[in-house]
Amino acid sequence: MDKKVGIIGSGIAGLVCAQVLQRAGVSVFVLDKGRGPGGRMCTRNREQGKWDHGAQYFTARDTRFQALVAEWEKEKIAKAWFELNPTKENASARYVGVNGINAIPQYLAKDLEVRQSSKVHHIHDSGSHWILETEDGTAHNCEELVLTPPIPQSVELLKKSSVFNSLESRALLESVEYEKGLSVLAVLDGPSLLPSPGCLKIDNSIVSWICDNGQKGIPSAGVSITLQSNPLFAREHWDRSDSERGMLLINAAKQYLGSEVIDFHCHAWGFAFAINPLPMSHYRSAKKRLSIAGDGFLKSRVESAALSGIASAEAILESFK
Ligand SMILES: Cc1cc2nc3c(=O)[nH]c(=O)nc-3n(C[C@H](O)[C@H](O)[C@H](O)COP(=O)(O)OP(=O)(O)OC[C@H]3O[C@@H](n4cnc5c(N)ncnc54)[C@H](O)[C@@H]3O)c2cc1C
Repeated sequence: MDKKVGIIGSGIAGLVCAQVLQRAGVSVFVLDKGRGPGGRMCTRNREQGKWDHGAQYFTARDTRFQALVAEWEKEKIAKAWFELNPTKENASARYVGVNGINAIPQYLAKDLEVRQSSKVHHIHDSGSHWILETEDGTAHNCEELVLTPPIPQSVELLKKSSVFNSLESRALLESVEYEKGLSVLAVLDGPSLLPSPGCLKIDNSIVSWICDNGQKGIPSAGVSITLQSNPLFAREHWDRSDSERGMLLINAAKQYLGSEVIDFHCHAWGFAFAINPLPMSHYRSAKKRLSIAGDGFLKSRVESAALSGIASAEAILESFK
């Protein structure tokens, strides 16, 4: 096949989409504005610790995603962390990356043409091919385009080109909204009080999730704790300093920490989770040779984002027949 597919975003949706296309013999490239692949599947490594600060784990309920996870387990880049409801019918393993969740996007990217630090700031449809301009002044051409940033960011890119107004379902795309999020990456001077398996989902608190990365199996110099705020707290404290909002979250989690926090960093997510993901696997305009995929479809989770990437790749392959 001599048609080239360009994908914006090296998160799980973009990488899985690229892998399916490449394995079917299609020429594909991925552009991403970040320094490394993974998007929200990210692991922060500092002298004092190592933390998963975006996605914490993932499920594998769908058989197509289970096949991918089985490959990752075989390659020793993913492993089951714990089983939720182990004795119930709806038992479902929670998977993590070996040495951090970012191992998975790193694995996927290594066999693909992925260009990081390449922010696409303009897209243009010539009628037969797409031209993607990155901020460093480079132009990348492809016949088919797949957008995988959070939907509001994809919509913004499309609106800057003349394409958006000609798309069907544009009101639907415009309707998708995302919650903000805040993560605190803390180092303790001793062990945490978190019981096995090392994480807690907390209701009725400004801290919605707390995790001991060491108990999860991420090797780290210090005791590395990830705290995540609830969306309301993130929204209300968006403009405050990291030291202020970080301390508020740490104080709210004190009963689970058990040791003193000796250092912490914050990460603010402008687009953490889709509030109202669209009830379809992906969006495609065959006429425009344009697809949109990612966690703005189905459910705002790793598994759904990957399934969205697979579905968009399969639709493109079908159109090439
Ligand atoms: C704090 C937090 C905790 C979470 N916890 C979990 C969890 O425990 N389990 C779970 O299943 N899910 C979790 N999620 C959700 C999960 O991380 C996402 O649903 C999933 O990773 C989304 O993947 P994606 O490929 O759709 O998008 P992303 O990972 O966001 O990838 C999109 C990519 O597009 C790139 N991009 C954007 N604009 C441009 C541009 N103009 N040019 C070039 N590149 C661009 C970005 O750099 C990014 O890499 C969490 C999310 C957050 C923020």
